This record gives sequence, structure tokens and C-alpha cells, in this order.
Amino acid sequence: MHATQEELDKQAQQLLSELAGKTLNARERAQIPLQEMPTQESAVRVKNMQEVALGYSDSQVRVEAMRCLQCKTKPCIAGCPVAIDIPAFIAEAAEGNYAKSVEIIKESSLLPSICGRVCPQESQCQLYCTVGKMFKDVDKSVSIGRIERFVADYAREHNLEKVPAIKAETGKKVAVVGTGPASISAAADLRREGHQVVMFEALHKAGGVLVYGIPEFRLPKKIVEHELNNLVEMGVEIKRNYLVGKTRKISDLMDRDGFDAVFVGSGAGLPKFMGIEGENYIGVFSANEYLTRSNLMKAYAVGEALTPLFDSHKVAVFGGGNVAMDAARTAKRLGAEQVTIVYRRTEVEMPARKEEVEHAKEEGVEFLFLHAPLKITANEKGRVNGVELITCKLGEADASGRRSPVEIPGSEQMYEYDTVIVAIGNDSNPLIKATTDGIEVNRRGNFLVNEETCETTLKGVWAGGDIVLGAATVILAMGQGRKAAKAMNSYLSER
Ligand SMILES: Cc1cc2nc3c(=O)[nH]c(=O)nc-3n(C[C@H](O)[C@H](O)[C@H](O)COP(=O)(O)OP(=O)(O)OC[C@H]3O[C@@H](n4cnc5c(N)ncnc54)[C@H](O)[C@@H]3O)c2cc1C
Ligand code: SF4
Repeated sequence: MHATQEELDKQAQQLLSELAGKTLNARERAQIPLQEMPTQESAVRVKNMQEVALGYSDSQVRVEAMRCLQCKTKPCIAGCPVAIDIPAFIAEAAEGNYAKSVEIIKESSLLPSICGRVCPQESQCQLYCTVGKMFKDVDKSVSIGRIERFVADYAREHNLEKVPAIKAETGKKVAVVGTGPASISAAADLRREGHQVVMFEALHKAGGVLVYGIPEFRLPKKIVEHELNNLVEMGVEIKRNYLVGKTRKISDLMDRDGFDAVFVGSGAGLPKFMGIEGENYIGVFSANEYLTRSNLMKAYAVGEALTPLFDSHKVAVFGGGNVAMDAARTAKRLGAEQVTIVYRRTEVEMPARKEEVEHAKEEGVEFLFLHAPLKITANEKGRVNGVELITCKLGEADASGRRSPVEIPGSEQMYEYDTVIVAIGNDSNPLIKATTDGIEVNRRGNFLVNEETCETTLKGVWAGGDIVLGAATVILAMGQGRKAAKAMNSYLSER
């Protein structure tokens, strides 16, 4: 059983009083025990939608920050896609200067409460951390993300954040398509420069995948709302239920509505399917649809939501990424008795974050490795009643560097399921490309952009995030939004 939040806090308080006033050398700092993240008990959390990780206490964050060696070469910064001054913000956190700490982060990253929760730190900053290297174990690295989360939450909850200053109005008007992290960061940076910014969101709620994809139990929606409210306070207008390409085309925005430049952050929201028999039966969902029903339409709030909850008992989730984990863990919370992740390779090759896999296991999600779906079957009413799977073995490495699954003939077997969730990835939304002349895309439908500026092949239009990178990460989307905003600002200043 995990230690409780109170127990972890008490241990940290004790340590803090022992360490107070001492000058520690690097070896002594590295010996300070890593602070465990308190979490809701698995048996409890699987029955609610609230956040699993409860966050460090004040004492825990200070003890964890003291583990940092303040390396002169700052290797962790090289692992951060937006080059946050990590040692500097950790040094302030160790002293309890949380407002200053978050100010340092915000010079490079606009969404620390979000990134502290969802960034894959173990393959970014924490992978390069000297403490992890000393122990030859990335899990022993300084918990950079947890410290980031704490200081950002602290600043938000104690109203320590300042709404950024806005420069004098320039009279230039910018359209931002989408309201995901790429668009949020582009909009904030453009507005700061004094441009008028209007965001257009196809859905009735803003926030992109942060709201409709990543579940509440990993990223509370109130945090995303807070960031969107900050934008509104800065003077950004957000128009919801507005599908660019249908309601208005990009050319309408530029030629008729007076926008001087456009940023497209329309994401990768087009679910991929496998093309196997039975994918149209009742009870087969894309992970996108399944998660949207739960996150955005609150299907789990039985009696309150207009979206009906699909009555699942035995659920198969195809895929091994974060999206598959989110879908499986959501299915458990929606009441399914048995949820199984079906993955073609082994756990080693699974792209999901280790922490998410561990949480899923703790919550009772089962894993069927080295199995691939062949077809989905249904009863006479067209409702899913089973899946045919074939056993695989690992073959040679493929282009991704992972060993590819090889099906073993004759190993086909039927399994009973009433729900199938397909979580094998997403492609770019094709609508804007299809309705805009001059935008070039690669064979996957991702916009082609200048790597330095994020400008598309159409003059006056920039793009960033998943629409350019394919399904990627929040921090990369945010980085591209900022890069594009910088180039857009130069363009607008010269016009
Ligand atoms: C379930 C799930 C879990 C994930 N977990 C993580 C994680 O733990 N960590 C991590 O770093 N990344 C994670 N990701 C990936 C991450 O969320 C994305 O890389 C990121 O959100 C991309 O940001 P974006 O701004 O490019 O687009 P999005 O967040 O996709 O936002 C695009 C927005 O544009 C809107 N839109 C699209 N077309 C139009 C149009 N024509 N007109 C108007 N609006 C339009 C969409 O409705 C959407 O709101 C996850 C993704 C999913 C699906
Ligand atoms: S590499 Fe690790 S120990 Fe060194 S400064 Fe960065 S966080 Fe601190």
C-alpha cells in the first residue's frame, strides 16, 4: 500500500528540519530520498473522475528541490523542448520562493500547471538529469515535472500570477484556428505584442485535446479553463462552434474579414481505424469519440448529461500509447468490469508513459501483449460480441526502431467483448487543407512549414502543433505556437 499524503508530508517535514541550515555537497544532495507523489488509492480512484496524483506538499517540494545539484553544465535544459531554466526555477522552489520560481518557468513555457502534469519528463529533461545518471536510473532523477506542477499550482491558487502586460494596440488583426496548446501559446504571445487576436474553435468548448482528450483524472479541466480565462482577460476573443473551412474559409478570414495573418493549430483529431471486418458494429468506438463523450459531454454524469453512457462490461482497447491508457482507465471508471489493452508487441515496446501503464495496472486494467485483432464480431442486432485475435512474435526492428510484430499462422482465437475502443493513432484534420488553395501538406496530411518560422506555403498563414508534427506532445505544440507568433509579429510589424 502507498503511503498517504499525510504520511509523505510528515516524512518530508522531518527531513526538512534535519537539513535546515546545513551546507550539502553533491553526494549528500543526491542521497536525499526522492519524494514520492501522493496519489488517490486505486480502489477509490477507479470509482471517481478526480485527479489521481494529489501533488506535493510544501515540505515535499522543498525537499525534492534540494536534491538538485545545480549542475554548471545544466544538462536537463538540453532535454527540455522549450529550454526552461530548470536549475534556476528549482533553486527558487528550494527556498520556498514559488512566485519567482514560476516566473522563471513562464519565460519559456506558458502552461506549467499543464506541462508539469502531462509532459513525458522521463524522456525529456529528467532523462538528462545528473542525479538519475549517478544512479543509472531515470526514475531517481530530480522530479522536475512535479516541482513545476507544484509551483504553478501554488501561484494559481494564491493569485500570484500577473496578467501579462499588453503593448499598445497595433491595429493588426490575427485569426487563430483551434484552441489547443499550440493556439493558446500563439494567441498569448501575439496579444502581448498588441495585436487583436480572435480564436476560432470548432467545438462548443475551448482547449483542444487538453479538454476533450486527456481525462479529468490526469488533467483537471479547471486548470485549462483558468488558462483560457487569462487569454480572455488579456483581450483575446474566443469564438466557439466555429468551424474554419465551413463557417468561414481561411480566404474569407483574410480577404473579407480583415485578418492580417492566420495561425492554424487545428491538431490531429482524425482517428485512424484498422480496416478490419466489423469496425462499424455498435459498440466500436475510436478512442477520440469515447474520450470526448466522457470528457466533453460528461457521459459519466448519469442523469445529468444528455449523452448516454454506453453500457460496457468487457472492453478491448486496441493500441499501446497514452491514448489507449486514457481510454482503458476511463472505461474502468465508467463501470466496465473487465478492460483489456490488446497490443501487438510487448510491454517494452509500448509507447505509453511508464507511469500511465503502472496506474492502469493498479486500477485493474489487463494487458494482452503480442496479440493483434483480425476481426470484430456482433450479434443479430449488430452489437459487438467478440473479437478474433492472432498471436504475434517479435521480428526485426522496423523504421521506428521497435521490433515489429509477426503474426503466427494458426494461432487465431475468439475472445468475448461487448465494446471495442480503437486507439491506434490520429491523422491531421483534413478540412482546412481541402478548403484552402496554396497550403501544401506531406503524404500524411501534415502542413509543410518553414522549420524556423512555422510559416506555411501560403503567404500570411502560419501553423503549429499536431497539424504540422502529427500526433505529438503538448510541449512541442506550445513551442511551435510561440515560434510562429514570433515570426508573425515580425511580419505584422513590417507590414
Ligand atoms: C487522449 C490523448 C492523450 C494525450 N496525452 C498526452 C500527454 O499525456 N502528454 C502530452 O504531452 N501529450 C498528450 N497528448 C497529445 C497532445 O494532447 C497533443 O499533441 C496536443 O494537444 C496538440 O496540440 P494542438 O494545439 O496542436 O492541437 P489540439 O490540442 O488537437 O487542438 C486543436 C483544436 O483545433 C480545433 N479545430 C480543428 N479543426 C478546426 C477547424 N477547422 N476550425 C476550428 N477549430 C478547429 C479542434 O476542435 C481542437 O480544439 C494526448 C493526446 C490525446 C488524444
Ligand atoms: S541535471 Fe538534474 S541535478 Fe543537474 S541541474 Fe538539472 S535537475 Fe538539477
